[in-house]
Amino acid sequence: MAAVAAAGALVVVLTGPARAETSGSGTFQKVSEPTGYFEEASGVVHLTFDDGPDEVFTPVLLDLLDHYGIKATFFPLGRNLKSRWEQDDVQELLSRGHAIGNHSWHHRRLTEEHPFSVAADLEEASLLLQDLAGFRPSCWRAPYGERNEMVLAVAGSLGMEHVGWTADPQEWQNPWVPVVLAYLTEKRHDGSTILLHDRKWLSLHIVDAVVSAFRDDGWGFEVVDACRTGNEREARMATRTEGDVPVGRVEGLTKDGEDLLLTGWAYDADAPEGGLEVVGNTDGLSPRIVGVTGIGHDFAVVLPSPTDTVPICVWVANAGRSRHDTSLGCHHLP
Ligand SMILES: [Zn+2]
Repeated sequence: MAAVAAAGALVVVLTGPARAETSGSGTFQKVSEPTGYFEEASGVVHLTFDDGPDEVFTPVLLDLLDHYGIKATFFPLGRNLKSRWEQDDVQELLSRGHAIGNHSWHHRRLTEEHPFSVAADLEEASLLLQDLAGFRPSCWRAPYGERNEMVLAVAGSLGMEHVGWTADPQEWQNPWVPVVLAYLTEKRHDGSTILLHDRKWLSLHIVDAVVSAFRDDGWGFEVVDACRTGNEREARMATRTEGDVPVGRVEGLTKDGEDLLLTGWAYDADAPEGGLEVVGNTDGLSPRIVGVTGIGHDFAVVLPSPTDTVPICVWVANAGRSRHDTSLGCHHLP
């Protein structure tokens, strides 16, 4: 193992077998109707989950997403978030690479409400998210998708862009999974946004079937860009005090010749000068320390391309502490 210092972060080169490069071959079908997003990355679709969190299904879903090494966007309901999750739960969702937006507090039809009531409902949810996540949400989704100019103007004044969907499998009707898969495949295009809910076993089966099939066709699953805020890192770090578990995020997994470059950050209030161990599960079997965070809390680690196509799982640990490690999620190979 050779260590090279670069750009303020410790870079560790591990030796290991090279992997044949795999490439997907999706049928990329362009549609003409605008979806309202800043950009539609080629071959990328979005999974979104409304109305959570759920004590049972959300943790299972997070593990399922890690199993495939993919990222999703969550629109929890304010009142559910308040009664079911703590700050560490929200931070874990974010540390694992997912994004979060506002879905109102009460789940009312906002188009039928007075503008003051719309503002109060959305702001209550944004304040809770700010308290738990550290930052105000930059995106939201209207309950039932119902919005008009008034509702959009109120949400816009609160700093949020609306995120709709392009496909709704309607889990409430208990559809057959193969039928859902056929429907979603037909509706698939760059930037497709799939509406799901983290409150039914059926939704988990749909995720399993869709991700598996879409991935075989070369499609990737990323968070909705509008839900990523520029100040997420600083804001999340500011939520941490001594004794708290670390927070962080993998920001890149890119190919560099035969190697993979893993970059990101992790912060622990008990280690203000960095030095957190970054652990990688590069072959699906044997986790090992692949690097440490620098003084600026960044890490940049070079990994050999593994022989398997399993996602690379990453977590950070502060040696000697009794708190649990922080997962930085699992990430599919580029
Ligand atoms: Zn909803």
